[in-house]
Amino acid sequence: MIGTDAAVCALLDSGVKIVTGVPGYPVTGLMEALGEKIRHEWSVNEKVALEIALGSSVCGERSAVITKHVGMNILSDPLITSATNTIGAGVVIFAGDDPGVQKSQNEQDSRFYGLIAEVPVFDPSTPEALYLSIREAFGLSEKVSTTVIIRITDRLLKSEGNFNRINKPDYKPQSFDKKIWHLTMLGKHQRFHSTSFPEMCKYAERCQLNVYKKRGTIGIISSGFPSSLVESVIPENFSHLSLGLVNPLPQDMIKRFLDEHERVLVVEETEPVIEKQLPGKVSGKHTGHMPYGLVEIKDIQKAIENIHKDNVAHNITSQTVEERGERPVCEDCPYIPLYSAIKELNVPVAGDLGCAILTSQPPLSLLDAAFSLGSAIGTACGFNRKGIAIIGDFGLAHSGMAGLINAVHNKHEVVVVVLQNDIAAMTGGQQVPDLTGLVESCVQDTEIINPQADIDIKGLLEEKLKKKGISVVLARARCPRY
Ligand code: SF4
Repeated sequence: MIGTDAAVCALLDSGVKIVTGVPGYPVTGLMEALGEKIRHEWSVNEKVALEIALGSSVCGERSAVITKHVGMNILSDPLITSATNTIGAGVVIFAGDDPGVQKSQNEQDSRFYGLIAEVPVFDPSTPEALYLSIREAFGLSEKVSTTVIIRITDRLLKSEGNFNRINKPDYKPQSFDKKIWHLTMLGKHQRFHSTSFPEMCKYAERCQLNVYKKRGTIGIISSGFPSSLVESVIPENFSHLSLGLVNPLPQDMIKRFLDEHERVLVVEETEPVIEKQLPGKVSGKHTGHMPYGLVEIKDIQKAIENIHKDNVAHNITSQTVEERGERPVCEDCPYIPLYSAIKELNVPVAGDLGCAILTSQPPLSLLDAAFSLGSAIGTACGFNRKGIAIIGDFGLAHSGMAGLINAVHNKHEVVVVVLQNDIAAMTGGQQVPDLTGLVESCVQDTEIINPQADIDIKGLLEEKLKKKGISVVLARARCPRY
């Protein structure tokens, strides 16, 4: 069994009724593994996905959301407010982090959202810990009436290990208590701090997923998948505090661990989330003992060798595209004629986070900027002259439509090129809604083209750039990969 199996079994055993989410590395396979077992859907964006889960919770049905780490940025609004507004049945968010940035647009640590939203965060290390974390998370979510985050990574989902399923029915339908509306917004936050948060802190101290093994005067505190790496190399005379729940931290347990050890190393991915919260001197990322991002066994071994040093020189060189290897547009991509035409125009170009991002690298080197999924239109509207926004149809449905509506409302000057292939090609070919009618109703100058047809694409775009206002070009083609 692997971590993904553990997650699916735990969702089934927890009585979850609906799972929503947005595809992307490393979580796509987790949703696909649900098969026919649990009702699930790919939502157009993560905020909508969490809103559906919360609606289900209000009606007394457990729900879960599956997202990659950047999706946490999108769903953070309902996440933070739901923590104080309270929920009904349990809601769990699987936040798929990408330490080392294998297939993402950035490297960020989803555990920070536990601190921002003041909600519990589990960071399991093995398939067994993942199974138990999910089972615990739903009960805790209902007890403290907040959403609970479980941070997962590709290595955790693919790691092998046994786990025992607990078939004890622990699920009693719990609907939203409308009495919360008697409190003001301030009153809701005050209730949270006097009731929910202290309950979370008490739970952290007794949580069996925080495991303290006392062995000597030097210790390691770790969380997540790196905890299993620590276990494989830790010297016999080193203590180990493996944290399965990282927000809130078990303050009493940690204080005891720090008091009982002369030196303490912190091992965690991706950012020093635990390390920053520890009182006193510990070694970790800020002392150069451990790297930021992905943690490998060799990193832990090196840190153990240097444990008696206060600081370790850690030379970081920024990885170049040449070192990593280029990730160009597919040679048979139907959009190459369109990209080549745009390259010949001397105008600023905003890209997006679907396949359009691949045009940023040589030989095309097409993009001036690309910030997030759905961002191309908004970015191009900020240019100091009329430019082009290249956006996929998934990016448009995800959040790009808001940029288009704003462009129309505020009379911006922009040419929007939509790569309309009906799928999210970058994340595995998931179906995308057809927004042709919606776009045509927003922008009068909307034109559909076949980028592979024998047409003068450069001339067409030049004409649109000369026109006043907004033009949309829907470039329809089939991706040969799907
Ligand atoms: S996956 Fe499809 S749409 Fe994306 S670059 Fe390759 S051929 Fe083009």
